[in-house]
Amino acid sequence: MVHQPGQLSGAAKLPAGQLTPMMRQYLEVKAQVPDAILLFRLGDFYEMFFEDAVEAARLLDITLTSRSKGEDRVPMCGVPFHAAKGYVARLVGAGRRVAICDQVEGVNPDAGASHSNSHSKMMRRELTRVVTPGMAVDDELLSPHASRRVAAVGRLDGSLAVAFLDLSTGQLKAAAVANERQLLDELWRGAPSELVLPEGVAAALFAALEVPVQVRPAVQALDAAVGEARPSGAVGAACAQLLAYARETQRQALPHVDRLEVYAPQDLLLLDESTRRNLEITRTLRDGETKGSLLWAIDRTATAMGGRLLVEWLLSPLLDLSRIAERHDAVGELLGQAVLRQDLKGALSGVRDLERLAGKLALGQGGPRDLASLSQSLLRLPELYGLLAPLRSGRFVALREQFGGLEGLSALLAGALADEVPLAVKDGGLARPGHSPAIDELRALARDGKSILAALEAQERKATGISSLKIRYNRVFGYFIEVTAANLSLVPDHYVRRQTIAGGERFVTEELKLHEEKILTAEERLLALEAALFEALRAAVVRELSRLRSAAAAVAEIDVLCCFAQVANDHGYVRPTLDESDVLEIRDGRHPVVERMLGREPFVPNDLLLDRQQRQVLILTGPNMAGKSTVLRQAALIVLLAQAGSFVPARSARVGRCDRIFTRVGASDNLSRGQSTFMVEMSETAQILSSATARSLVVLDEIGRGTSTFDGLSIAWAVAEDLHDRIGARTLFATHYHELQDLCRDRPRVRSASMLAREVDGGVVFLRKVAEGVAGRSFGIEVARLAGLPEGVLRRAREILLNLESGELDEAGHPTLAKVGRKARPAPAAQLTLFAPVTPSPIEIEIRAQEIGALTPLQALNLIAGWQEKLKA
Ligand code: ATP
Repeated sequence: MVHQPGQLSGAAKLPAGQLTPMMRQYLEVKAQVPDAILLFRLGDFYEMFFEDAVEAARLLDITLTSRSKGEDRVPMCGVPFHAAKGYVARLVGAGRRVAICDQVEGVNPDAGASHSNSHSKMMRRELTRVVTPGMAVDDELLSPHASRRVAAVGRLDGSLAVAFLDLSTGQLKAAAVANERQLLDELWRGAPSELVLPEGVAAALFAALEVPVQVRPAVQALDAAVGEARPSGAVGAACAQLLAYARETQRQALPHVDRLEVYAPQDLLLLDESTRRNLEITRTLRDGETKGSLLWAIDRTATAMGGRLLVEWLLSPLLDLSRIAERHDAVGELLGQAVLRQDLKGALSGVRDLERLAGKLALGQGGPRDLASLSQSLLRLPELYGLLAPLRSGRFVALREQFGGLEGLSALLAGALADEVPLAVKDGGLARPGHSPAIDELRALARDGKSILAALEAQERKATGISSLKIRYNRVFGYFIEVTAANLSLVPDHYVRRQTIAGGERFVTEELKLHEEKILTAEERLLALEAALFEALRAAVVRELSRLRSAAAAVAEIDVLCCFAQVANDHGYVRPTLDESDVLEIRDGRHPVVERMLGREPFVPNDLLLDRQQRQVLILTGPNMAGKSTVLRQAALIVLLAQAGSFVPARSARVGRCDRIFTRVGASDNLSRGQSTFMVEMSETAQILSSATARSLVVLDEIGRGTSTFDGLSIAWAVAEDLHDRIGARTLFATHYHELQDLCRDRPRVRSASMLAREVDGGVVFLRKVAEGVAGRSFGIEVARLAGLPEGVLRRAREILLNLESGELDEAGHPTLAKVGRKARPAPAAQLTLFAPVTPSPIEIEIRAQEIGALTPLQALNLIAGWQEKLKA
């Protein structure tokens, strides 16, 4: 998906003589944006022509027509201008760039006069902006809880950097990166919707990101500082490349891009792309939805800004122990204060998206309603500020400082804006009565004018005796008196006829015209004053952008800290201990998402202990469905949450700081990227072995499953050895290859554990408990039976399993599977029946499975209550 400014399409090939001046104007504009779909304003429509029209008609499912009057070969389609944003959003959503050409004030003096078919003068039209997948400010294209960014790569003297811009908020950040691998990792983390590359950087390197790429001539350095920053080197080049692109598309200054945040990737915990996907941090693997993700389980934010920051924190956990502790201190302080938490939430929920409102207004795209939302939000800030007063933890003290200096703007907006502002300035009614004497006076004039007209109407009815006489208004004639045909004989002589209509005639009088002038000029002047007021208020907002951004950042952070405290409160999360040790010790850990998905079934917590001295690699086996993946992922999620500053779902947790988390799941397809299942699995594993350090947490789920058994086992074995011998990373390794457990015999820091399942009367009950030691059988065929595989296939599978288990191998060492005849043992002996025929009842099985000695009295009571519930259901 690489776009380069190219040649103009076939459109321009039409002989110029056949084109109207308007069409020539169109082609001139189009030549400036050959790779965008051009929306060309004509009256109340935005029209598209040539290939743009053909493509847009298809993408938007609208009718393709053609332009008549000599241009009948020109395909064309259009959308009403008042609904354009929705259509633009759909085109951009389909990965296109959309250029908008508007009519601007005044007329083009040299165009059109010679052409008989056109208006005598041509409207002047200008390209106002180009909306691209990464450059959007319209609500139609943005989702409140997700940032939309464009990224650019900078390369200077062999160094690399990346920069990100969120045009809707003005947030600009950049980082120097050590190599291409880190560049890609940071791009994955930032998840841009569009990427700008300087010429000469191979676009193929970024294909996996699957975002539209724009290649532009390399820009090496910024021509002006961004706020106080004027970065040099590759970071400067990346920012310059990005801002050049922003200027190219926005065609105006970007007053809200006034601050640059330079961050260091090595200060953040690295979650590479497949880890992020596998841990389902912001969306699920299966359907890409938020529901079922970590974000879904813990997002209690009250503002859009908080929602976006939460995503950022989850994708960029920290490494610095003191910064993590600051967040934990703040969460802990709020956790103890339920009432305050409630009050904060109430205040926060009144704060609208300050960042994006300010951004929209700064770009000149906001209207009166945006000003009003900003004003209402500012009015909530003193309350928030006050609520923070009793809080002592460092973050809250610092955040409180970020609120200052907006009182003036807040008072100005609150004083100037009416309670109900109009959608557009031209609709009138922006100013609060009492704010501006001039506006009030004109309003009175306009209003009085109307009552004067009403009086005049009554007076004329009386004088003429025509009771149906009406005073009306239209744009062409202004005010007039309308008399029905039946009453025309009563019309007095001083009425001047203006127009005959079906059923009557329209007249004016001198008196009426006098009033009209007063009223109309009052309305015109009123609108001009309100437009000036809007502009003045907008300018006041732009002057305070920097303070607005600080306040918005404070609101977002307070919101996320409140969210962490609320989740901790509601779901029993605890403060983890973080240190520089190599220990990962979790007591009664839970999976934050699975525990919420289970409904009434209780989640079984598990302990985990890893370190680099004795228990570095844990091989976890156990039957299908026993809960291996859940145990693995919950460990990774607990580390992630802890380092993001959240409390964690456990009774206690000690986390020796991790620098990277790697999570790989065997047999995960990536066909859309043209790689086979096994190839993906292996390249991801290769990446772990090349990037994991002794501080990393490596979680491998069923690695080696995508190939033949012996190959798979051998690879899994060698990978586990390498992690143990060379890398030294804390590792959790779930596998179906029970043979892997033999590793503990010759590697000192490998431990094996299995998920407990209990055989009960030919059935099996999963206890979801991890136990040290070697696993029993895997129940795979019984799970297949549960999934509905035909009985014949299952019978044969048992037969083959039996051959395998009895070790019948041919001369090449392969099991002689084809052999038939050995009588398959009855199911319970070969594999336990997962859910044995209806007797015994599930409750009976559960009762039998209980280890009475391991239950506390309370747990026993809860169990009995649960059974009772089930029996009632
Ligand atoms: P497979 O080997 O087939 O991939 P698995 O051993 O990895 O299976 P999981 O996917 O972790 O099993 O768990 C299967 C289901 O069991 C989960 O979807 C969940 O409903 C339930 N489960 C897992 N762990 C627990 C637990 N600790 N407490 C309660 N239910 C659990």
